[in-house]
Formats: sequence, C-alpha cells, structure tokens
Amino acid sequence: MSRRRKIYEGKAKTLYEGPEAGTLIQFFKDDATAYNAEKHEIMDGKGVLNNRISEYIFSHLNRVGVPTHFIKRLNMREQLIKEVEIIPLEVVVRNVAAGSLSSRLGVEEGTILPRSIIEFYYKDDALNDPIVSEEHITAFGWASPQEIDDMMALAIRVNDFLSGMFAAVGIQLIDFKIECGRLLENDTVRIILADEISPDSCRLWDLETKKKMDKDRFRQDLGGMLDAYQEVATRLGIMNKNEQPAKSGPVLVKSD
Ligand code: UDP
Repeated sequence: MSRRRKIYEGKAKTLYEGPEAGTLIQFFKDDATAYNAEKHEIMDGKGVLNNRISEYIFSHLNRVGVPTHFIKRLNMREQLIKEVEIIPLEVVVRNVAAGSLSSRLGVEEGTILPRSIIEFYYKDDALNDPIVSEEHITAFGWASPQEIDDMMALAIRVNDFLSGMFAAVGIQLIDFKIECGRLLENDTVRIILADEISPDSCRLWDLETKKKMDKDRFRQDLGGMLDAYQEVATRLGIMNKNEQPAKSGPVLVKSD
C-alpha cells in the first residue's frame, strides 16, 4: 500500500492512485468518527464490512442502470473505482424524521415524512458542513442547475432502490447521504454516484423493533455498532453469520 501514491485521505477512507489512468483505489479504514471528528474511535473490522456492503449496493445500482464510480472490489478493504471530480455537496434523502432534521425543525424522530425530502450540505469541515439551498449552490458555482437536477434524479432513484432492498430484509431506510462526481466520458461530462453507501452514511432501523442498525449506535453511545453492521451484511446475504471481518492486524492483549 505504501508504494502507491496517496491522492486523498478522508475520515473513513483513503484514495490511492489506480492501476490505470482514470481509476483510483478506495481503501476503507476502521476509523469511526462523528460530530466532525470530535468523537473518534477505531472499530476493528468496520472497513471490511463497509467495503462489502458498499460493493453490494453499488454493483446492484450499476446493474439497474444507476451510474456509479464502482468498478470492482479488489480485496477485503479496497475497491477499484472511476476517478471523478467530486461535487462539494452532500446530498441527503430523508423518508422518516431523524437526526439534524428532527433537531432543526422540531419534528419527532420516527415521524414518517409527507414525502421524501432532499437536502444539500456544503462539504466543508471548517464550517461543519452547513445546509445550503439551490440558490447558494448555483450562486457560488458548486454545481449548475442542470447538475442539481441530475443529482436529485440520481438521489431519488437510489432512494427507491435502497428502500426496496432494505425493506425486503426487514430494515427501514430512514435517511441516507450520497456524494456525486463529474465523470468525463467521450468529451461529455456526466454526474455519477461516488463515495460509499454503508451503515456509516444511512440510518437503518429494524422494521419491527425499530432497533438502530447504523452509525447512530456510535454517535449516541448505544454500543454494538459492529454487530449491527454485521447484521445488515448478513441480512442482505453478503456475509454469513459466522464470517468474521478480518481484523486490521495483530490485536494487543491487555493484561488487566
Ligand atoms: N450523513 C453522513 N455524513 C455526514 C452527515 C450526515 O453520512 O457528514 C448521513 C447520516 O448518517 C444520515 C443522513 O446523512 O443518514 C442525515 O444526517 P443528518 O443531517 O441527520 O446529520 P447528523 O444527525 O448525522 O448530524
């Protein structure tokens, strides 16, 4: 790994130069962060689970015609992806009130929204990823009106696909975040899905019990985050119950 050129290091993933022009390698780390990295822990095996879950989702999206950056999974922690120019926005789709929507607008967590709501956040850690409107996005040139339309259309298709996929295994998709990129192809630029989709970037509740099976277990100190991610993978049929995500390396045995 160290022989490769690092292109970018984020909180949960690192991007390396790919084997050929126009490709990158996306490495999934075990770091769990929340509240703009104020809260940070290493969760042994999270990267492996997210790599597998995101691979499953992106390859299915590719198959149903939703364009993504995903090419193939390379190993336990890495995927080969298409290099894109990331649009500096987080696109959030919400079906049920939770998180910042509940606290900002005083809507009780768990309230089913009258329709799916799409929101944009400007990706800037120093500013804490503020919510922005289409006016801000076009005025500051982060994306054009056409690109906003394309991102919204993509987000709705992803929402429809994911809602059905999760419902089929007894999981309710509350909300999720996607990131989009510009891909240059035969002199035309098109918007495709980038980054990852995993329990780090979705809110997932058990349909019956409403048990949280996502990063809120970490944000809210509920414990059992890895077990919940493992259960998502198991329910989707990605990993079997007894398959343990490979650990990152030797584990320190504590003497006390
Ligand atoms: N989300 C994300 N990355 C972020 C912020 C949010 O993946 O930097 C996801 C989050 O997991 C949830 C959805 O986007 O599924 C909506 O998050 P919200 O705005 O409620 O923010 P939060 O409560 O996580 O601060």
